Amino acid sequence: MTTPIESGAQKLDWVNRHMPILKSIEQRFTKEQPFKGMKIAVCIHLEAKTARLCEVLQSGGAQVFLAGSNPLSTQDDVAEAIAARGVKVFARYGCTPEEYLQFIREMVEEEPDIVLDDGGDVVHVVHEEYPHLIPGILGGCEETTTGIVRMKSRDRDGKLLFPMIAVNDALCKHLFDNRYGTGQSVWTGVMQTTNLIVAGKTVVVAGYGWCGKGVAQKAKGLGAHVVVTEIDPIKAMEAIMDGFQVMPMKQACGVGDIFVTVTGCCDVISTEHFELLRPGAVLTNAGHFNVEVNYEALEAFASEKKTVRKNIVAYTLPSGKEVFLIAEGRLVNLASGDGHPAEIMDTSFAVQALCAEYLTRNRLEKGVHNVPADIDREVAHLKLRTLGVEIDILTEEQKTYLEHHEG
Ligand code: NAD
Ligand code: SAH
Repeated sequence: MTTPIESGAQKLDWVNRHMPILKSIEQRFTKEQPFKGMKIAVCIHLEAKTARLCEVLQSGGAQVFLAGSNPLSTQDDVAEAIAARGVKVFARYGCTPEEYLQFIREMVEEEPDIVLDDGGDVVHVVHEEYPHLIPGILGGCEETTTGIVRMKSRDRDGKLLFPMIAVNDALCKHLFDNRYGTGQSVWTGVMQTTNLIVAGKTVVVAGYGWCGKGVAQKAKGLGAHVVVTEIDPIKAMEAIMDGFQVMPMKQACGVGDIFVTVTGCCDVISTEHFELLRPGAVLTNAGHFNVEVNYEALEAFASEKKTVRKNIVAYTLPSGKEVFLIAEGRLVNLASGDGHPAEIMDTSFAVQALCAEYLTRNRLEKGVHNVPADIDREVAHLKLRTLGVEIDILTEEQKTYLEHHEG
């Protein structure tokens, strides 16, 4: 029988075969040792791709500390395997929210030089509970959209006291990870968890941002009829031009079979919507927090609840109709799946690794920083190289033409 540590090691081995960009960065880091003597605290979904990122940071000389970034996305077998390779782990699948926070505190107490955050929880804990550690922190990187929203708001209030690089905003991150990664992994998660068909169903996607576009496009590819809800008129127009129907959520409740919220907002599906849903509606979230489908409101509103399949709870509403919620309304692709595919995280984590290195080579001011364009281009070049794809190179005449032509 495979032990947890063996199963975790197998998962790591599998993703390693599909993350060639990280491998090439690892080879360079091994030689150059950019993190020699440094401590790096990572708070990103604890599964195999993140474990690979930790190994790459270790190869550059760092001592690495790892917390999960969601109580339901931690894979304990991977945690054991990566702990056996020298990463100090602060996570357990299914821990309570308080234990989750406590893990982050314990990781912060290791006094990291660099923090890699996914949603802003570490940045929050450091500033609110361990401000004395701030002078020792070179800076950090933020992986996701909502983390950047939180970080910018802290910066506006003058309360972001070390530099943070907005990794999510790199083109090599959100164009691929948010769109194609979320697009694919949400449906892997929904299909695996429910074992129900998507073709022929009406799928409602709330939010037509980078993630929403991917989720809607893949739903269409699976044969669903797709309805989009938005609050931004431009995004709504984009959804219409892409061939989707747009309507307010209250109306969509009456037609949807499967709902995916991916807005970064709260109360997208809440008390005023529940009784408008059709019997048997499946509710899922792929956005940051479990407030998009308001989990607490559903718990309070329903008259009964019952686990009907792993990660699926059936809620009986006062009218007697039943609706289903996946993984407590936490990100379906990670809380009930392995998250984005390895090739996607190869690109995202290449940006993370290079930005962490950038922090060691440059003394940045406190506040939010964009990913340097050179890092974006380097990751794109590395990706194309791993795909064996070449592109054209401008001739001198073309460069002059592009720089100087007048109309
Ligand atoms: P985005 O800013 O590109 O898109 C969000 C969209 O939601 C916008 O178009 C906005 O107008 C719309 N919106 C906001 N409030 C709404 C509401 N009440 N109803 C309908 N639409 C609304 O952001 P994104 O990059 O697509 O990320 C969305 C969320 O997903 C964030 O919380 C982000 O952190 C998270 N995320 C999750 C994953 C994952 O793996 N599940 C991956 C990347 C990002
Ligand atoms: N703390 C949040 C995390 C935001 S999740 C929470 O409560 O769940 C969104 C981020 O997860 C995305 O930006 C994406 O880059 C990352 N992600 C997606 N799939 C992943 C995977 N397989 N491994 C690690 N991170 C992943």
